[in-house]
Amino acid sequence: MNGAPTLPSPARAAEARPRGYAARVASRVTVESIVQPVPGFARVTVAGEGLTAYDPVLPADAFKLLLPAPGDDGFDFPQRGADGLPAWPQGARRPILRPYAVRDADPAAGRIVFDVALRPGGAAPLRFAAGDEIGLAGMRHGYAPASGATRHLLVGDRSALPAIAAIVASLPAAARVTAVLEVAAEEERGLLPAHPGLAAEWLVGPASAGAGSPLEQAARTVAVPAAGAHAWIGGEVGVVRALHAHLTAALGLSLAQVHAVPCWERGRTADERDAAMLERYRAAAARGRDVADPDVADAIELGA
Ligand SMILES: Cc1cc2nc3c(=O)[nH]c(=O)nc-3n(C[C@H](O)[C@H](O)[C@H](O)COP(=O)(O)OP(=O)(O)OC[C@H]3O[C@@H](n4cnc5c(N)ncnc54)[C@H](O)[C@@H]3O)c2cc1C
Repeated sequence: MNGAPTLPSPARAAEARPRGYAARVASRVTVESIVQPVPGFARVTVAGEGLTAYDPVLPADAFKLLLPAPGDDGFDFPQRGADGLPAWPQGARRPILRPYAVRDADPAAGRIVFDVALRPGGAAPLRFAAGDEIGLAGMRHGYAPASGATRHLLVGDRSALPAIAAIVASLPAAARVTAVLEVAAEEERGLLPAHPGLAAEWLVGPASAGAGSPLEQAARTVAVPAAGAHAWIGGEVGVVRALHAHLTAALGLSLAQVHAVPCWERGRTADERDAAMLERYRAAAARGRDVADPDVADAIELGA
């Protein structure tokens, strides 16, 4: 697990499943270990029986961690409501939910590895320790470019770096990869694996947020020919929204060529974002929209 990642080539995985298909996993897991791959990040390995159902595995699949709420000694998994959205019945112990990306996976062993960007002085250090039982539910579909994609644009801040590292590790040697990445300190660059076709531009500084941020401006200078290209962008919602518009409207990439992941929102906790998002999903479902359609989901999550 600590050597070469075991994720399949994204093109092969995409051919096997339509865009948007994701494995369904819901499992109690034990935190096996927490180590520091580079200063500023914690690498967490969790294992649980239910993770053996993790199939297919796409690079940078995303999931929610379920953690007991303050004062609770455990938590309950949600049930699926009539609208297909998760809900907790009256009296259930509702957990704290935090999304992360799979960095490495060994489904046969029921094991997943993910990296957490630590924010010194931030609201939340890790809320769990080795030996704790927590929960994991997912997956949200990972990187799945069309099989003809040869040119990859990857843009992200620290919260997206683990996902981007997983994508880079999965790409064939012939792929041409342009990455525009933002970290808080030089040492954090060590999280990205080497790749023969990778050209990376690094910004070092505070997290970009909102329209017009340094990360957005740097990514806008990259020329991407639409044919054969696929983009993955992750970071603060304002940055991701602006870059999504730039790539689709200005550069002409189709919605299917852009995988946009709003990882966090300035001034809002993940709980506050989730509550607002759930309302948007409910409203869209009530209007008869297919919220399982990845393009519809992207629009909801980008607040478009
Ligand atoms: C699909 C997906 C995959 C993700 N994958 C990863 C991953 O692999 N590794 C990882 O570390 N993160 C990842 N994130 C981001 C992570 O879930 C959020 O940063 C989350 O808010 C962290 O929870 P928290 O409890 O630390 O902070 P919260 O309690 O949610 O927020 C507290 C405060 O911190 C701010 N904040 C939250 N995140 C950041 C940030 N990154 N930079 C600056 N300020 C921030 C909020 O605006 C808020 O004001 C992912 C998010 C998504 C949606």
